[in-house]
Amino acid sequence: MSGSSAKPEIHQFPCLKDNYGVLIRDPSTGVVAAIDAPNGDEVAAALKAKGWKLTHILTTHRHGDHTDGNLPLKAATGCTIIGPKGEADLVPGIDKAVGEGDTFMLGSLEVRVFDTPGHTKGHVTYWIPAAEVAFAGDTLFPMGCGRVFEGNMEQMWNSLAKLAKLPPQTVVYCGHEYTQANAKFSLTIEPENEALQTRAREVDAKRARGETTVPTRIDIELATNPFLRPQSPAIRKRFGLETAPDWQVFAEVRERKNKA
Ligand code: ZN
Ligand code: FE
Repeated sequence: MSGSSAKPEIHQFPCLKDNYGVLIRDPSTGVVAAIDAPNGDEVAAALKAKGWKLTHILTTHRHGDHTDGNLPLKAATGCTIIGPKGEADLVPGIDKAVGEGDTFMLGSLEVRVFDTPGHTKGHVTYWIPAAEVAFAGDTLFPMGCGRVFEGNMEQMWNSLAKLAKLPPQTVVYCGHEYTQANAKFSLTIEPENEALQTRAREVDAKRARGETTVPTRIDIELATNPFLRPQSPAIRKRFGLETAPDWQVFAEVRERKNKA
């Protein structure tokens, strides 16, 4: 066949307590990557269920619930591990370190790398433009964002602002199922947001049926995620931060979530 290559196949599965593992397969080359490896056995089981052979692991950040499977999977498959330059020394089994502006090929798919520090100092996001998909690890969650452990609030805001500028139809995978708690919190920040009210109801219904709420999409987050909405007049007025820079409004949302 000539012309555009086929879209990748993506398989998401629950791991550990509330993590997600993701496998992505390029059908034109058979290359298969795990986006993070929360647990070697669970990733191996997902590969077996699909009948796929692991060739790569793309690590978003160093935390154990994203990297504990790296060494066992590498030992079992000989896969190549790609991970963040900014914390490469803390990523088990890393073969290739990548950072802001880097691109690499995953089979026939071009992957672009953003530094998205804040949750950890070297956290990266992987974007595959041709597939309109991004893997944001613990940076962006549905109606939420990662805890700011190693960076500062301004840094985390800058990371989220990069993701906010991706094409609106970009599908975003993330590391955890935290959506229902995030929705409940988000309604305390912007209760008048009708898109948020509707989404919160949909999320409750999905969780009641035991369904996943991940992945999400950039346009949906822009409309409903208070961490991406520091420009919202209602949020600014509520905080008394009408003229503050965006990152300070973001920081107030994050502080309130920390205390919630
Ligand atoms: Zn983490
Ligand atoms: Fe995590």
